[in-house]
Amino acid sequence: MSYNLQVSIDRDSGFCFGVVYAIDMAEEILTEDGYLYCLGDIVHNDAEVERLKLKGLRIISHDDLIDLKNEKVLIRAHGEAPETYKIALQNNITLIDASCPVVLKLQNRIKNSHDAKEKILIFGKHGHAEVIGLQGQTNNEALVFQDIAELEDVNLPDKFTLYSQTTKSTDKFYAIKDQLINRGFDVKANDTICRQVSNRYDDLRNFVKSFDRILFVSGRKSSNGKVLYEVCRQYNPNTYFISNADELELSMFNPGDKVGICGATSTPMWLMKNVKEVLETY
Ligand code: SF4
Repeated sequence: MSYNLQVSIDRDSGFCFGVVYAIDMAEEILTEDGYLYCLGDIVHNDAEVERLKLKGLRIISHDDLIDLKNEKVLIRAHGEAPETYKIALQNNITLIDASCPVVLKLQNRIKNSHDAKEKILIFGKHGHAEVIGLQGQTNNEALVFQDIAELEDVNLPDKFTLYSQTTKSTDKFYAIKDQLINRGFDVKANDTICRQVSNRYDDLRNFVKSFDRILFVSGRKSSNGKVLYEVCRQYNPNTYFISNADELELSMFNPGDKVGICGATSTPMWLMKNVKEVLETY
C-alpha cells in the first residue's frame, strides 16, 4: 500500500547566518589545504559534522589544542573564551575565527559589564561552548544557571546584570526576569537572545498548524533545536523529533497525511531534503 504522503519543507528552517559563515569558511580552507582543525563540533549536527570530516575536517578538544603547534584551527560560531586565544598565541596557531558576530557582540557587552564591576548572571546551559566563552569574559566570575530553581540556595547580590545565552527561549528569559524582580532584586536585564532563533517561533507556529504530522529534524545536542522543537509541539502535538531519516517509522503516519519538515538553526537543508525523499517512497 502506498501512503501518498504530501510532504513540504519549511523554507525558513535551516542554517542561520552564523553557521553558514563558519561552514563556508571551513569549506574554503578544506578546498585549499585538504584538512583543517576545528575546536569542538563545528555545528551541533552529527550528519553535517560527518560530511565535513570526509572533506578533511579534524575535530579536536581543548586538551588537544594544548599539544598542537604551528597549525590552523577554526573557532566555530559559538565563540571561545580568552584562554583559547592565549594558548593559540603560545603555540603559534593561526586561528580562523568564525565566531558568530552576534556572539562576539554579546561577549563584548559582558566584558564591559564585568569591567564596570557589575555582578553578572548568565541564563545558559552549563558546559555549553558559547556559555564557557561568555563566562570567560568575566574571569569565570559570572554565575551561570540554566534553571531558576538553581538560584534558590544561592546568596545573590541585591543588584545584578542578567544576560542570556543566544539560543535560549525568550519566554523563559522574561519569566525568570519577572520572578527575580518580584523577589526584590534590582535586575538590569538584557535580552540577548539571537533573533535568528526567536524570530523563528512565529514562523514555526504558522508552519506547523497546516500539517497532520511534523518532523522536527535536529541534532540532539542543539540548544536551539530543543527550544524550537517545543514550539512546534505546542502548536502541533503530532510533532516528532528525529536526527535523520534512519529514525523514521511508518507507524508515525496515516495514509494521505500532510507532513511538514522543519529544523534548527544547525540543521542542514540537505538533511531535511533527504528526509523528504525517504517519505516520498512510502
Ligand atoms: S543562532 Fe544566532 S548567535 Fe547563534 S550562530 Fe546563529 S546567528 Fe549566530
